[in-house]
Amino acid sequence: MKTFYTADHHLHHSGMELSFGRIVETFEKPERAEIVLRRVKEVGLGPVIEPPAYDRAAIERVHTPDYLDFLQNVFAEWRAAGRDGEVWPYSWRHRSMPMLDAPPASLDARLSYYSFDMAGSITETTWQAARRAADTALAGADAVLSGERAAFALCRPPGHHAGRDFFGGYCYLNNAAIAAQRFLDNGHARVAIFDVDYHHGNGTQEIFYDRDNVLLASLHGDPDFEFPFHLGYARERGAGRGEGFNLNYPLPAGTGWLEWQAAFEDAHARIGAYAPTALVISLGVDAFKEDPISQFKLESEHFLTIGRRIADFALPTLFVMEGGYAVDALGINAVNVLQGFEGA
Ligand SMILES: [Zn+2]
Repeated sequence: MKTFYTADHHLHHSGMELSFGRIVETFEKPERAEIVLRRVKEVGLGPVIEPPAYDRAAIERVHTPDYLDFLQNVFAEWRAAGRDGEVWPYSWRHRSMPMLDAPPASLDARLSYYSFDMAGSITETTWQAARRAADTALAGADAVLSGERAAFALCRPPGHHAGRDFFGGYCYLNNAAIAAQRFLDNGHARVAIFDVDYHHGNGTQEIFYDRDNVLLASLHGDPDFEFPFHLGYARERGAGRGEGFNLNYPLPAGTGWLEWQAAFEDAHARIGAYAPTALVISLGVDAFKEDPISQFKLESEHFLTIGRRIADFALPTLFVMEGGYAVDALGINAVNVLQGFEGA
């Protein structure tokens, strides 16, 4: 299997985050991608390829132009306002405040308009890193479109929390959504996105919520207790033409393999029934028992089984790296999915 990867991911590093009242080193750090890359090479998964730079048009198929302009320019604006450090939002709209239908004028109001949390900052080069992560996903999709059975887009920063016009949850551009749209724009009729990351893929859900040509199935910590909260309930099934094409599997804290597998198998059957022509896996491996920010109990060997079962779809498949923060085991767990797939 070809791995698409660029060292340009180093252009994004928030450095720190606010975690339960403490300022700590950010969990979403460059080392994550390095560890996965090292494991890819260690097991001889296949060639590692630098993605080309894609035109912004491929990203505008998913994200709004005004949001992309904002992401690209906000750091310069921050500096022009005389501020040092990195760009952080600090205020959001409460439900009692009117919903805006256009971006507000002030820098801080716009930061709140285009985000839902402060998990990650925007640095001077975040835009470039996010673009390169999207390039990585697009190059992976193009490899699959050219006939590869599967490819691995080792994206960083991750993407599944980013919506059409917002960032959050360490995500700026939705790499998996951009790849899914690439499949649709190149002859595929129906794409399934199977999000096995521990967290709900709220951005992906928002992007495709009213569409029937993309089915999203997401297994995740119940929003009653877990980030991103507010979204990810089973009752969110899509809207309009998209009704029934959004499948959420919220699971309790402490979920172990057997319960997780039961939800996975249910989603697997429903994806199969949808008869997609291509598959995108939002590959987060933070359901692992030692993940520092998650509360599921999967073990490394289970990721092999996940990969084997994904291969059973017998579909053109793109794996897109999302979360996973237990850095010691991150490479093994992510690559176990790919090896399970290859061995099936
Ligand atoms: Zn996650």
